[in-house]
Amino acid sequence: MTDRWQDVMQNNYGTPGIALVKGEGVYVWDEEGKRYLDFLGGIATNVLGHAHPVVVKAVSQQIAKLGHTSNLYAHNQGIELARKLQVMTGDPKAKVFFCNSGAEANEAAIKISRLTGRTQIIAAEGGFHGRTMGALSITGQEPKRLPFKPLLSDVKFVTFGSIDALRKAISKKTAMVILEAIQGENGVVVPPNGYLRQVQALCDEHGALLAIDAVQTGIGRTGEWFGFEHAGIHPNIVTLAKGLGGGLPLGAMITLGSNTPNFKPGEHGSTFGGNPVSCAASNAVLDYIQKKNLLDKAHDAGEFLKGELAQIPGVQGVRGRGLLLGIELKGEFASAVQAKALSKGLLVNAPNKSIIRIAPPLTVKKRDLKEFVQLFAEALSEVHRG
Ligand code: PLP
Repeated sequence: MTDRWQDVMQNNYGTPGIALVKGEGVYVWDEEGKRYLDFLGGIATNVLGHAHPVVVKAVSQQIAKLGHTSNLYAHNQGIELARKLQVMTGDPKAKVFFCNSGAEANEAAIKISRLTGRTQIIAAEGGFHGRTMGALSITGQEPKRLPFKPLLSDVKFVTFGSIDALRKAISKKTAMVILEAIQGENGVVVPPNGYLRQVQALCDEHGALLAIDAVQTGIGRTGEWFGFEHAGIHPNIVTLAKGLGGGLPLGAMITLGSNTPNFKPGEHGSTFGGNPVSCAASNAVLDYIQKKNLLDKAHDAGEFLKGELAQIPGVQGVRGRGLLLGIELKGEFASAVQAKALSKGLLVNAPNKSIIRIAPPLTVKKRDLKEFVQLFAEALSEVHRG
């Protein structure tokens, strides 16, 4: 597999250690038939796990009926999905633009911000919003930006969680402040209580749009639909992707509130965005989350994991909400733990040297959580023993 990959693929991901051939529920299998407990969920994407029957059925029926329309024609799956998202936001005037990915959702948000007549965007250091040139321009991780400069110029970065930093940076020139409610790629960084509410107040004071990038926190992962509701804020823009399609490519940019600009005909578009098959998957995913009360289950599962993981020797602490958790290790050996876990049949990820991130499906059962805790504890102790 390794040779075949290297012969044909760009090296932007490096060479993956394993090739997966099958998935079912919370498990995946590699080409040698080895089974893995998947606690990364396609990086917070497979919210119902792998090959969930409701997704398989929705996708199969839709592809057999109408697979693609372009955006010159309407289709029911898209309208139904946009209505669901509108209801989830609580704003009957919310308007949805569908695309295929998180980066594209944020590109759309950047363009909406330009419609204010202002150009400045404020984003957070450590934040991640995608790899396209616009989304990269608002991504606060210098190593990812450096080779591709010059990027969009009118962007300021502030310390995530510091309201003083934002107060100094924001002005009547600011078109948009964009933040994640929890910084996922930066290692599951949770801002202090009250921060998002204060951000909202500063945006309101200066007439700047507040955009929340809910690409990673969204679709129930944190125990709420979007991941910012507990803060009691009302952003002007919400971006989604990852879990939205339950594994199929789908992103969305939602505008909220009466002062937020909206696109006029011709101002934006996407050939595949919101195609009927991805929307059918998403409708099935959202219905299932609601029917099975998976928001509460994600919250409860997260609390259970926090309690169990905190007792494992070598764990400094656990941060995050619901099923987006960062396990802080007592030392910089996260990549060794990730590799050891893989060898033991467990998929997790190390976003930095001392954090293990997990984002399992919202459908995980108690026995999966227990299996995870045991495998993780073994991996950690084996790494410690050398
Ligand atoms: N925004 C956030 C918060 C993300 O975590 C990611 C991906 O990890 C993105 C945007 C980019 O999404 P995509 O890879 O679908 O373009």
